[in-house]
Amino acid sequence: MKGNVENNAMRDLNNVPDNNGFFGEFGGQAVPEDLKKIMDEIAEAYKNICKSEDFINELQSLAKYYVGRPSPIYFAQRLTEKCGGAKIFIKREDLNHTGAHKINHSIGEALLAKYMNKTKVIAETGAGQHGVAMATACALVGLDCEIHMGEVDVIKEHPNVTKMKILGANVITVTSGTKTLKDAVDSAFVEYLKDPQNYFYAIGSVVGPHPFPMMVRDFQSVIGREAKEQFAEMNNGALPDYVVACVGGGSNAIGMFSGFMNDLGVKLIGVEPAGHGLDTDHHAATMTKGTKGEIHGFKCYVLQDEQGEPLPVHSIASGLDYPGVGPQHCLLKDIKRAEYVSATDKECLDAFITLSRTEGIIPALESSHAIAYTMKLAKTLPKEATILVNLSGRGDKDADYVAKKLNLI
Ligand SMILES: *Cc1c(COP(=O)(O)O)cnc(C)c1O
Repeated sequence: MKGNVENNAMRDLNNVPDNNGFFGEFGGQAVPEDLKKIMDEIAEAYKNICKSEDFINELQSLAKYYVGRPSPIYFAQRLTEKCGGAKIFIKREDLNHTGAHKINHSIGEALLAKYMNKTKVIAETGAGQHGVAMATACALVGLDCEIHMGEVDVIKEHPNVTKMKILGANVITVTSGTKTLKDAVDSAFVEYLKDPQNYFYAIGSVVGPHPFPMMVRDFQSVIGREAKEQFAEMNNGALPDYVVACVGGGSNAIGMFSGFMNDLGVKLIGVEPAGHGLDTDHHAATMTKGTKGEIHGFKCYVLQDEQGEPLPVHSIASGLDYPGVGPQHCLLKDIKRAEYVSATDKECLDAFITLSRTEGIIPALESSHAIAYTMKLAKTLPKEATILVNLSGRGDKDADYVAKKLNLI
């Protein structure tokens, strides 16, 4: 009976957010009244559309025939042997079309925009990964796409700018402020607010005002659903002991975690970027070092100064470089359902090379954080233990940078 009580208590966990978009005290809509009205309309439309058979069928069909889902789980035998402890299993989101998990929510959002009869999708992008995924999804469903990107990033991440343009997106170079992600968000929002009835703002992670953390989570939950079934199939019906994923905004991690949320024996671990070290000013370990605050229209842990202004953050992986974090992760930390740890730039580089050379898989620098912690954890565990790690994306985009950094070329 005790088990039942606990199960019932935990069942509420998959029942978040509440109608106002709160995950416990986190999330919500910290936005002006007129924007709140627009967000509520999107939430209402999503509630209906996500239950419609046409939408579900189209999304599932694209996931299978276009993205190439299900992505496999792979037993990493040589990496396991090298670490000398727990068995390591890898969920291969890097094998998706466009090479990362971001395509999962990008297609979901683009399809939702189409079902809502929107004419244009607007998004911001930092390193360009979300921009490319959105431009891909818009080309696929036939919607205009406008991507706002800071001038500094446009220069730094030029291959992604080229891809977006080939895919037909209108790339707006933002020259205000520091000419990076934060200014791109501001610029994209100004454009969005010109005609929110006809435009759709596509957020790139489980962040922003309600309903975005919920919608993006739902679109990413396919990772966890597949992984649970695949892992059981490979392991006589068993569940993994640990599930590990990297956390920037938190979308690939929450997608993976959601499959195991009610399986209390499965330990959920999110890995944040510790950059040059947690005791320096150069990291982006929001869960570990942040305090409660508001950023981009929602409440979460934030790396902020005394005035509540977001602090500059650093990670070798630009996709993890964010001073806020998804509200559901904040709740999972506070109720101790998940644990949040970190890996430094150096550990990440080591994992990048180790996975490449033991398994022939070049991981994204973001995903390398999850691999780095997995390697450390595996060594401390007995051989019967199992770790399932989400490989959120492939490392082609990082290959030159890493090779130069390590003097390989
Ligand atoms: C963007 C990105 C991330 C970080 O985003 P989350 O929302 O935290 O998942 C992680 N891995 C890859 C490959 C990315 O492109």
